[in-house]
Amino acid sequence: MPPHGVEHRAEQASLLAGILHDRSTDPRYAELINVVEESSLVVDRKSPEAVNVRELRREYDRERRLPRRLVEETARVTALASQIWSEARRDNDFMAFAPWLDRIFALAREEADAVGHNGTQYDALLDYYEPGMTSSQLSEVFASLQMNLCPLVDALRGARRSASAGLLSREFPLDRQRLFGESVAAALGFNLQSGRIDTAHHPFCTLIGPGDVRLGLRYYARNFARGILGLLHEVGHALYEQGLEPAHYGTPMGEAASLGMHESQARLWENLVGRSEGFWRHFYPQLQRSFHEVLHGVSPNRFRDALNRVNPGVIRVEADEVSYDLHIFIRVELERALLAGDLFAVDLPQAWSELYARHLGVTPKNDRMGCLQDGHWSEGLIGYFPTYSLGNVYGAQLFAAAERELGSLDDAFAAGDFDSLRRWLLEKVYRHGQRYTAATIVEAATGTAPDPSALIESLAGRYPTAL
Ligand code: ZN
Repeated sequence: MPPHGVEHRAEQASLLAGILHDRSTDPRYAELINVVEESSLVVDRKSPEAVNVRELRREYDRERRLPRRLVEETARVTALASQIWSEARRDNDFMAFAPWLDRIFALAREEADAVGHNGTQYDALLDYYEPGMTSSQLSEVFASLQMNLCPLVDALRGARRSASAGLLSREFPLDRQRLFGESVAAALGFNLQSGRIDTAHHPFCTLIGPGDVRLGLRYYARNFARGILGLLHEVGHALYEQGLEPAHYGTPMGEAASLGMHESQARLWENLVGRSEGFWRHFYPQLQRSFHEVLHGVSPNRFRDALNRVNPGVIRVEADEVSYDLHIFIRVELERALLAGDLFAVDLPQAWSELYARHLGVTPKNDRMGCLQDGHWSEGLIGYFPTYSLGNVYGAQLFAAAERELGSLDDAFAAGDFDSLRRWLLEKVYRHGQRYTAATIVEAATGTAPDPSALIESLAGRYPTAL
């Protein structure tokens, strides 16, 4: 869309949001929900009908509390702000975006108050992305992550400096990366009869309809790690989508439990599978054959050292596995302060830099590399960032539980068996849709409520500091 098209597009987005709001709060719709709620269909509260009506009721109740004017204004302002953000980022001009950021947080406060909360506006927003999660639970999770990961990152910063840093910035021809990536996706269980793989500017996974899951992937000639890890991440999302019941398509029973649970699958396949020794015992010979001119004489261990290098930086999407959650922690701290009115947009760049210096030991050289790097806030996604870390937390717990039940997953991967893990996840997570909340799914599958200790243990075990 040309830049001048944005005004009209914002008006259209606003109109559509208003029409959708009217339809989803129509009194006739409420009557129909009532009829099902009082029928015998919902006697078994785990039946698909009961789950669907429970979730539709929840959505209806939330939507009904929002005035149409607010829904329209939010759609209009975020459509405009997304464009302003992308120009501000291009020009490294945060001040052009700052007033829009304040407007978006003001609208978010209004939304939280309209929806209702127990004194913490953030809870009302968080609940939209991660049903059932609260600020106070989140504070505990992040306090534990921050306390354990900051020292680990610090210790690894020095220890791994000798790893083969330059190895993965050699040139890996793009066409061969694509072929290798597609064979990996198929081996992990991505069903090409029910999906497609294409290339795109930003990696994504999207469900078009039953039997049609699309992956858009991107490869980098001089950054092999980013391409393959991005692929594994999106394949993780796709396995969840392909594991949902097609018969429930279009209803809550046919949708992922939460954004955090969705992200848990992406991070599990990306990090716990894709960085593992077993995975590369299986795939490295094939990789070495495909890229013999760059990997000739490079041992599998040296390759994995390069892939798993810990090197805290300023960009979230390029972060290593150990420092990643600290990037999220910083965003969550800042968005809570912005929402509470304790921080104003004009002061964001300084607050951002201070937190990066304190927790990651790095400082962005400009706002483009700092607080302008992510588009989430410009799109009105406030309370969304925590789902990335919750995904890491759930993923580590699920992986540990799968390993307890199935035996060594590393051995399975080395033998090319990725199906045992996928089937376990299908049984414990995918097929349930929204029957249970993410926390309940985690607890039923692992025996413990969501808790960051499995993630911390997994990282500490896989990234020993005494190297
Ligand atoms: Zn993701």
